[in-house]
Amino acid sequence: MGDDRDRNGADANGHDADQVERLAKLKEQAEDALARYDLAEGAEDRGDGHHHPAEVATDMDERERELHEQLRWRERAEALAAAEQAMSEGTYGICVDCGGEIPAGRLKIKPDATRCVECQRLVEQGRG
Ligand SMILES: [Zn+2]
Repeated sequence: MGDDRDRNGADANGHDADQVERLAKLKEQAEDALARYDLAEGAEDRGDGHHHPAEVATDMDERERELHEQLRWRERAEALAAAEQAMSEGTYGICVDCGGEIPAGRLKIKPDATRCVECQRLVEQGRG
């Protein structure tokens, strides 16, 4: 009835249930991916005993790529957890650098964004 609007409506920061759900889903996804890597690691221990030098090199490339990916997922899971935390504290969607509001459109694309477009660009420039 009348309170449906309140339940689904935006909170003070303008973030709605969709956004919360999207965050939770992405976090779940990242955690699933990480769990898969853990499983793969366990399975890898059973070597078949014969390793060509070429094969080993390929394995190492593969391993390195996996580690990179694993790291990316881990960072993502952490960023998403931080976003959820910020959401519960009411600081979600606020740029950590300038304190300005992060546009909703940006949060839709990157729900774990902690900076507005401008500040993010400055950070990336500083890095490069
Ligand atoms: Zn900013």
